[in-house]
Amino acid sequence: MPAPPAALGPCDDAPGYEEAVGFDRADALAPFRDRFVETDGDLVYLDGNSLGRLPVRTPDHVTAAVEGEWGDRLIRSWKEGWWELATDVGDRLAPLIGAGPGEVVVADSTSVNLYKLAGAALAAGAGRARVVTDDLNFPSDAHVVAGLARAAGGRLDIVASDGIHGPVEQIEAALDDDVALVTLSHTTFKSGYTYDLARVTAAAHAAGALVLWDLSHSVGAVPVDLGGAGADLAVGCTYKYLNGGPGSPAFLYVRRELQDRLVNPISAWWGHADPFGFDLAHSPAPDIRRFQTGTAPILSLRAAEPGIDLVVEAGIDAIRAKSRALLAFFEARWRDRLAPLGLTWTSPTDPDRRGSHASLGHDDAWRLTQAMIELGRVIPDYRAPDSVRLGLSPLTTSFVDVHTATERMARILELGLHEPFPAEATVVT
Ligand SMILES: *Cc1c(COP(=O)(O)O)cnc(C)c1O
Repeated sequence: MPAPPAALGPCDDAPGYEEAVGFDRADALAPFRDRFVETDGDLVYLDGNSLGRLPVRTPDHVTAAVEGEWGDRLIRSWKEGWWELATDVGDRLAPLIGAGPGEVVVADSTSVNLYKLAGAALAAGAGRARVVTDDLNFPSDAHVVAGLARAAGGRLDIVASDGIHGPVEQIEAALDDDVALVTLSHTTFKSGYTYDLARVTAAAHAAGALVLWDLSHSVGAVPVDLGGAGADLAVGCTYKYLNGGPGSPAFLYVRRELQDRLVNPISAWWGHADPFGFDLAHSPAPDIRRFQTGTAPILSLRAAEPGIDLVVEAGIDAIRAKSRALLAFFEARWRDRLAPLGLTWTSPTDPDRRGSHASLGHDDAWRLTQAMIELGRVIPDYRAPDSVRLGLSPLTTSFVDVHTATERMARILELGLHEPFPAEATVVT
């Protein structure tokens, strides 16, 4: 790679810089940035919505678990905190999503948790076998529930959107007494549209259906009130805004009143009422533990704790307020600097209806993304076919980051620095 051109160096002479500095100075959450590892002060990392940064405390916390709990205490550690760790971490995460104690467990992946909860909902559907989602959902989620709906003799209906906004009214119109389950991403992965969770939950309930929210792109950035809305089920990642590390275990939520009505379709021993009874008949645990599968990934749970604790410590309302301010500043920089260069705003403009990331559309989005990473030292995400997605993780993103990123993006396009990059996308983008 050639050395980055001088034009992609400091951007402190560009319009908007002083404003960004002022916002950072007034930002009560700014000190949290020092609680995360930063090895390259010139890198602008705008992908905390895909893989959150490493908390400073995590390496020591994991080392203590490896050396002390595993190395020294060995199997005794199961009785000294490991056995309940998945529900303990779930209880700590619970306030972020409006859940109570005993309603959340941290286990398995988001995809597996989705399978378990959607499968449980279909089995409880008393003959209803249709599932409703939208075309903004993470395609993998749609694949998981489509397979389950087919196996139950039903089908998945994917309600069409305009590509940016959740098709709320069309979803409401699609609900009837055939529908067992409505499942949506609360904040959608590309445009960042954020549903009115209470409204859709109420509509699903009015049709006699259950609702399952995927909170992967909300948790840790957008306050969620599952309890207040009476939502039934939810899943989500801990490696995005919760900074739990690559592949860290996901969470699942089951409203307390439903827990003894729903049955985990993977009836393994960690969901058994008496796992060490080794009875050949399976009797599900009476509580949230019935939605566990096999042995908890202890080291990954330990790695996930500091990131979750940091979000709880900062407070989700303060995080949301900063997220809104970051998005507003990003939108203003886009309007001044990027819209004239042909980048379109392909996310909601209503601050109440978006999460903490936004996407920009451009025909050359993939080459632009490569130039941003390789020359601009700005890491966004490319999302096929034509989006550059910028995630503004409130605990680790500054207003100057947003200014630098948008300015370097503009300079790349002005100078055509993206043009030599290959047009063909790689497998991982
Ligand atoms: C990130 C994400 C996932 C990831 O699922 P994994 O099982 O962890 O790979 C699933 N659904 C949504 C909506 C996501 O944003």
